[in-house]
Amino acid sequence: MRPARALIDLQALRQNYRLARELSSARALAVVKADAYGHGAVRCAQALDEDADGFAVACIEEALELRAAGIGKPILLLEGFFEASELALIEQHELWCVVHSNWQLEALERTPLRKPLRIWLKLDSGMHRVGLSPLEFRDAWRRLQASGKVERIVLMSHFARADELDCPRSREQLVVFEQARQGLQAEVSLRNSPAILGWPEVPSDWVRPGIMLYGASPFEQPQAQASRLRPVMTLESKVISVRELPAGEPVGYGAAFVAARPTRVGVVAMGYADGYPRHAPTGTPVFVDGQPARLIGRVSMDMLTVDLSDLPQAGLGSRVELWGPNVLASEVALRAETIPYELFCNLRRAERIYLDAKSTN
Ligand SMILES: *Cc1c(COP(=O)(O)O)cnc(C)c1O
Repeated sequence: MRPARALIDLQALRQNYRLARELSSARALAVVKADAYGHGAVRCAQALDEDADGFAVACIEEALELRAAGIGKPILLLEGFFEASELALIEQHELWCVVHSNWQLEALERTPLRKPLRIWLKLDSGMHRVGLSPLEFRDAWRRLQASGKVERIVLMSHFARADELDCPRSREQLVVFEQARQGLQAEVSLRNSPAILGWPEVPSDWVRPGIMLYGASPFEQPQAQASRLRPVMTLESKVISVRELPAGEPVGYGAAFVAARPTRVGVVAMGYADGYPRHAPTGTPVFVDGQPARLIGRVSMDMLTVDLSDLPQAGLGSRVELWGPNVLASEVALRAETIPYELFCNLRRAERIYLDAKSTN
């Protein structure tokens, strides 16, 4: 079988979840949207189910997948419903629901419900994507209270620039949030991963860790708390062919790399069809049999090439880590001009293999 695979360390996932809770002294909804950022939502939620205060997903399809797999903990729909007809399912499966727009508020008021819902009312504190304006927010609070359809309201907002630790924008957003919620008695939820790791002063009864659960830092620069995260995914494959190139010969499509010296090239069964970024340039780090090495030439659909010149022991069958504990996904992302979120979400074809220290010990 083709050796490209993604090992998923569920023990590391649990440890990162506990770190999120410890750093925030709050309850934490594990964000498992987009198939748990490519890690497999059902398996990740099952691994966290015992510990987790709840989960968060992007849409009802994702929530129902978890319910069908036996996940009974609270599940928050981060964008609420997309059509009012979803409200019946939200009620039936006891999902928690964000209200971020007036049309959702009106639909909720119009729709008869048997049980009151848990609503997370979202303020647009400056990201300007979704969320109610401060004036609408206070009005919506009153209408929800009056509707008789709401059991409990959590007040939430989302930061646009929490990953930029010296940027004043998060503090400005916090001021807007604090003003908008003055006098409203409710729990609050503001912090995503960068805010959990980097903004300890932001109040939160509930936090919403995503990328940090998977062990990748949301910051471009090293950061103390982020260095405590344990990578969950190891993307790996093997060397399937080796060739010696004389100086002056090119490798791969477009001759994007030309050997400046006699070069021993390892061909690895991994390509952009597996989700490895095509734009990772020559020099992007990899690990070969536990030793640092570098990508050379253009990444193709099923294969990529690495420089084995300084690793005489490495050869056919050598294990290659594309990212994981030795090669940080955030480093690969930086080289490829993207973010680890996108790398993980793009994972395809490569088989996922789940490791759980709890069950193998
Ligand atoms: C995706 C998402 C999160 C998680 O963000 P991370 O940066 O991955 O921690 C939190 N809150 C909301 C509203 C989201 O959409």
